Amino acid sequence: PKSVHFFSQKETVNKKIDPKLLGIRGRQANEFAELGLPILPGFIFDASVAHLLKGEPVFKAAAPHLKRCSDLVGKQFGDTQNPLLVKIVISPNLAIANYPTLHNFGLARTTIGGFEKWVGSNFAAHEVLFLLRGILAIIRQSAELQEKADTVSAMDKAMAEVGSILKSGKVSLSGVEIMEKYSPLLPSGFFDSPEQQLELALKEISLLLSLDEQNDDDTALLVQPMVYGNYGKGSCSGSFFSRNIVTGEKVLQGKFFEEKFDDINAVGKDINLIDAASLKKLQQIAWMLEDDSRDIRQVRFTIESGKLWLIEQKSVEAKSTISLIQLLLDLNKRKIVDDAYVVQTVKPGQLNEILHPVIDLLSTKDLKKSVGGIAGAPGAAVGRVYFSADSLIDAQRVARQNGEDTRCILIMPATYAGDVKAIEVATGVLSNEGGYSAHASVVARQYGKISLVRPDMHIRGNKAVLDGLTINEGDYITLNVPYYGESTVFLGKAVLIEPDPHTSGLLDFIALTRSFIQEFHVRANADSPRDAELALRFGAEGIGLCRTEHMFFNEKRINVFREMILSESPQERSKVLKKLQKMQAEDFYGIFKAMGDREVTIRLLDAPLHEFLPHNAAELDGFIAYLKGKTGAKISRTEIQEKINALSEINPMLGHRGCRIAISFPEIYEMQVRAIFEAAWALQKEKVSVRPEIMVPIVMNFRELKQIVYGKKIEGHAYQGIVSIEESMREELKAKSLDYRIGTMIELPAAALSAGEIARYAQFFSFGTNDLTQTTLGLSRDDFNSFMPDYTMYDLIDGNPFAVLDPRVRELIELAVRRGTAARPDLSKGLCGEHGARPENIRFCMEAGLDYVSCSSYSVPIALLSIAQIEL
Ligand code: PEP
Ligand code: MG
Repeated sequence: PKSVHFFSQKETVNKKIDPKLLGIRGRQANEFAELGLPILPGFIFDASVAHLLKGEPVFKAAAPHLKRCSDLVGKQFGDTQNPLLVKIVISPNLAIANYPTLHNFGLARTTIGGFEKWVGSNFAAHEVLFLLRGILAIIRQSAELQEKADTVSAMDKAMAEVGSILKSGKVSLSGVEIMEKYSPLLPSGFFDSPEQQLELALKEISLLLSLDEQNDDDTALLVQPMVYGNYGKGSCSGSFFSRNIVTGEKVLQGKFFEEKFDDINAVGKDINLIDAASLKKLQQIAWMLEDDSRDIRQVRFTIESGKLWLIEQKSVEAKSTISLIQLLLDLNKRKIVDDAYVVQTVKPGQLNEILHPVIDLLSTKDLKKSVGGIAGAPGAAVGRVYFSADSLIDAQRVARQNGEDTRCILIMPATYAGDVKAIEVATGVLSNEGGYSAHASVVARQYGKISLVRPDMHIRGNKAVLDGLTINEGDYITLNVPYYGESTVFLGKAVLIEPDPHTSGLLDFIALTRSFIQEFHVRANADSPRDAELALRFGAEGIGLCRTEHMFFNEKRINVFREMILSESPQERSKVLKKLQKMQAEDFYGIFKAMGDREVTIRLLDAPLHEFLPHNAAELDGFIAYLKGKTGAKISRTEIQEKINALSEINPMLGHRGCRIAISFPEIYEMQVRAIFEAAWALQKEKVSVRPEIMVPIVMNFRELKQIVYGKKIEGHAYQGIVSIEESMREELKAKSLDYRIGTMIELPAAALSAGEIARYAQFFSFGTNDLTQTTLGLSRDDFNSFMPDYTMYDLIDGNPFAVLDPRVRELIELAVRRGTAARPDLSKGLCGEHGARPENIRFCMEAGLDYVSCSSYSVPIALLSIAQIEL
């Protein structure tokens, strides 16, 4: 009896007993008992004896415990009128071994009549079948281990019969008839009396444990009463979550009495499933279990004749990020967990789910789908499909006028500057070319839209074929691009669940995360006042990259920009530049104002020209119409086309982009620099302190930077540098000096290698790891994805270097940091490529001595959480 342990709501297993001897299920039951919860009482044959019961009089050892269980449940084992039945749970110490469930022992010829009175004869017959299914499986497993082929096949046959009756739900025999039919297969006298049945069953199970070499004598046996949710009046059973696993709302979410909840709470209506007192008790239990496990729990219970019993509790895999955050904030507020626990428990990538809509997977059951592709921007989107920016914008306008659904998805081989407007108003973009750092993906992330790249998609006119599925213009599709796992395109409309940072707890969670931020910071990549405000809301501590070319990404401005690029004389250009300067100064003003005294890094123009020139006849027509409207002059299409052709480059990514444009056309950067200072001084006047940082892109050597910063005079030419522009403007405006800095991007290996020289002219470095990866590996950021699968298949590359920093790129960054800081000890250093939000890259940046990462506003919370977890 020392090896048999009783437990109940009021009694735990002796603390001196090694918990290993109780097995997993025994320990779980004992935990319930330790919490004083209404666990079904029971007793455990611990692992030291469970495999040795063969020769012992087992029922005798069990009887006193069984009596206590009977008293607690209010039914006696063996009672012919109202019999207590028991289950036997095989409880291994570690492994989740594949043992059958063993229910309803005590159901014998003498007791079945009494049982039927309570539950009905049909139910009783079913329960006999359940009992049989378990014990036959045990005998079968033992026979197999003893190589008794005849017994194995007899058991297989019987189990198949029993299984098919249970599956069909139609039992034609009565409980007694079933007993008669299957007795010959069981130890003799199995159905004669409940006591004998339990004795025989425990011995059979013990025999199996002794034969099973895998079980290492570390398995216990648990005996607990059976209770039934249909056992007379005041009985029910169910399963519920301790809170809503989608929204996190602290209200029990139950499987089949869910609808009744509101009734009870609101009007106290009589319901037949569960009474208000029990519900209240369940609520208290659920929340106690939550507090104890610090997790959302799923609890199974049975109420039998008005008595509540907990059957099982477990953690919930399928809970949403919102519900997890709500739980953690609740536990934190009540001081059950500390801040560190909250920050530790959420995986950074999980936050994506709370920042973007997520798909309600139940709603996709009947939709055709195609799985695969490269996640450009995670989340889920639904919309009608359009194959060009213009047709999308037009269709959306019409839908709006007609009061119809305005959600649209753009499908294109690749996107360019002219398509940004469409991405901004779309819900998502599905493209062919590129990957994580492709234009479509970068812009989508910037605007919080969803992007998926499917290199295997074929686009022909207004039709796309994906994996044998045809998508026509105007069709609905759904994109599901999870942060972890595979992306899917569904044909048709799925239901989306929209996040709301106010109610999701995200903002509180961000605030808590930020309290762990010390030396290393997060800025946002943002190009508009709206972006800047969003960035701040999501916890950004500054702007690390304002891509000024993105500011021209809209219908009105793009043609002005095109006009500027195509101007033939400096005079012509300077006229257009004046217009652009006005637009830029307004934007800078808005961004600076939003960010106040936080750093705002404005990158001077870096436009690979091909992204800005008209790409098709419609864009060209639009541009010609614009020019006509401006000057009234007749401009021939051929003439424009020739100009465009003259500017087109064979390899624009390595062509006339970044600071190289400003070497040829200094007036472009001058315009931008003036706009920056103009905005900064306007705010200075309003007593808003601002901290602009002017950043020069695609620098290859210090001479380019020196010229852009300090200017240069050669015969017939004068290049005015940023420093002298500021000085002359300050004099003109009679303004006070500004707190501004000049720095450079490090995005070419040559720049990294000559960081020491470059740092003499740069107060800060920002590592542009998109281009640095592209140029270090010689891999086109827009084309790599088309052949990456082959590289992955042959194991020639570890993952995607445009997502996780490549070791060679890391080495260049480390070297540039060393050389740069040696030349300028107070050099500030950040990373602003698309790598910035990944935890593994952030860890590297911190170790390499950078001061911050900059990433899209929607990724800022993810980066903050990654840092907080490293700082912990
Ligand atoms: C980079 O190259 O990493 C960068 C941030 O600049 P862009 O992506 O605009 O080229
Ligand atoms: Mg770059």
